[in-house]
Amino acid sequence: MPYIDEGFPIHFFFNLNFKQMKLVAKRARRDNGERLTDGGHTALNFINTCKKDGKGGYIDHLGNYSGFLKWCSDLELIDLDIFMVLDLEQYCYSKEAEGIYCSVVAARDCFDELFNSLACGENVHPLILDRFNMHAERINAHLSYHTGECGLMLYWKDIHEEMNLPYWLVISAARSLVDSGGWRKIKKCPACSNLFMDKSRSHNKLWCNHSTCGSLLKNKKYYEKKSLIKNELQLA
Ligand SMILES: [Zn+2]
Repeated sequence: MPYIDEGFPIHFFFNLNFKQMKLVAKRARRDNGERLTDGGHTALNFINTCKKDGKGGYIDHLGNYSGFLKWCSDLELIDLDIFMVLDLEQYCYSKEAEGIYCSVVAARDCFDELFNSLACGENVHPLILDRFNMHAERINAHLSYHTGECGLMLYWKDIHEEMNLPYWLVISAARSLVDSGGWRKIKKCPACSNLFMDKSRSHNKLWCNHSTCGSLLKNKKYYEKKSLIKNELQLA
């Protein structure tokens, strides 16, 4: 009995011809909300905003400072008030916004190299470490310790109407992933190459998203089995 993915009724597959079934098996369905958070950590979600297009190029899901700002807002890294202020500022200071976005892309490339190396158990190249330290140092001047409601804590300072704030937030996320040792839970999805955090108790999570990348493989297996049965019937 072939395995039928829970997401589709069984008659859905039996009503398809083989060409249609192949198309279904190739298509990983994922809505935008899932795509944003499949990494399970801000730093990994940030890295996953740039994907290979399968033709040697890349697809940048952010595109520019405006797209990056919207992504930060969608992930609630910044609240609506900050989003409104910075969204207005980017039109007033478009050159500055362009420069910041260049830094954002450079940081994402660096984090991609760094965390991919860590996920694969490889040594991080010294040049990548130099670049990571350069980004990390940029937020030092905007952090200071204060005694708050939960005791001594690190707080942001001098960030009011600062267009760099979203860039600094992703740097902070990457630093915390390294400092906390959380990088040990990073895995690479075999279906889509996304990096993701395996937060499962048994540490056996295989996919960045079980219902998309996970079902993709199951659908492929089903298609292959169906093709095999068809070939055997033709030979009989
Ligand atoms: Zn995946």
